[in-house]
Amino acid sequence: RGQYGSLTTRYNNELYERTVFHERLIGDVDAAIDNGDFVVYFQPKYQIQSERPVLTSAEALIRWIHPELGFISPGEFIPLFEQNGLIRRVDHYVWRCAARQIKRWREQYDVTVPISVNVSRVDIFDPELEKKLCDILDEFSLTPDELMLEITESAYSDSADRLIEVVGSLRDKGFKIEMDDFGAGYSSLNMLTEIPIDVLKIDMQFIRRMLLDDKKLGLVRLVMDIARFLHVPVVAEGVEEEEQLNVLRQMGCDIVQGFYFSPPLPAERFGELINQECQGKEETSC
Ligand code: C2E
Ligand code: MG
Ligand code: MG
Ligand code: MG
Repeated sequence: RGQYGSLTTRYNNELYERTVFHERLIGDVDAAIDNGDFVVYFQPKYQIQSERPVLTSAEALIRWIHPELGFISPGEFIPLFEQNGLIRRVDHYVWRCAARQIKRWREQYDVTVPISVNVSRVDIFDPELEKKLCDILDEFSLTPDELMLEITESAYSDSADRLIEVVGSLRDKGFKIEMDDFGAGYSSLNMLTEIPIDVLKIDMQFIRRMLLDDKKLGLVRLVMDIARFLHVPVVAEGVEEEEQLNVLRQMGCDIVQGFYFSPPLPAERFGELINQECQGKEETSC
């Protein structure tokens, strides 16, 4: 053992505790779905090329309010559930919640707020994926363009052929595909020539540093050019400051999501936002 003995032990203990924690999370998924411990939040996206920002859509983001462990961030459990396939059940649950919410808001406010849901790269390999999504549309009487699909860029490096096939088929059905976290991975540029997408979502890390680092700013500008070339709108996520918003607007960025406008909100709070938005203006569908 020698002088490193205690270090090794501490390392092993931490590893052990982490494993126990993860086993616990895995074991609690069924109960969490049954008891409603997974809660879906909605973060608004704003069109920024109009005279004033207009609420256009939302992203559904899962939260786990564990009865004993408290709040657990998706950054903690999503990668874990991607390792063992549990993500398929969890994502299906989130998609249904999102779809139900579109229907509810339509009934409550007489307006359609399209919602983007996250689709894990694991879901791409689910042979039932398309059927699951279509069944959800049927269940809540939605059209496919109302439930948009955010696929993270990491999925694009995994298995290009499979992805091209699945995305092509989903788009044939009318689903809109957003490439999430664009620029964070490697294969993005090449994949863009192979996979038809509907929206480019630039990774938050570029937005956060673009006013501090000219190289990041240059990259953001480049993404705008790529998007124009592809004739797809750009969503900038992680916008926290007015200055970022102004620069993005000038560059021609179409849609913005971030704490500057709002953090992800529980459904009722988002409903208040829709209500506000609907008051005293004609330019939206309200
Ligand atoms: P993402 O899909 O790229 O989602 C954007 C993340 O950025 C969210 O974190 C959101 O809360 C956060 N965010 C938005 N605006 C700002 C901002 O202005 N500043 C900062 N600092 N953060 C901002 P969240 O909710 O913790 O989710 C993290 C990731 O977990 C997501 O990244 C997504 O990859 C994954 N995820 C979340 N919900 C789901 C889900 O239902 N299914 C799957 N498969 N993945 C999910
Ligand atoms: Mg996303
Ligand atoms: Mg993202
Ligand atoms: Mg992300």
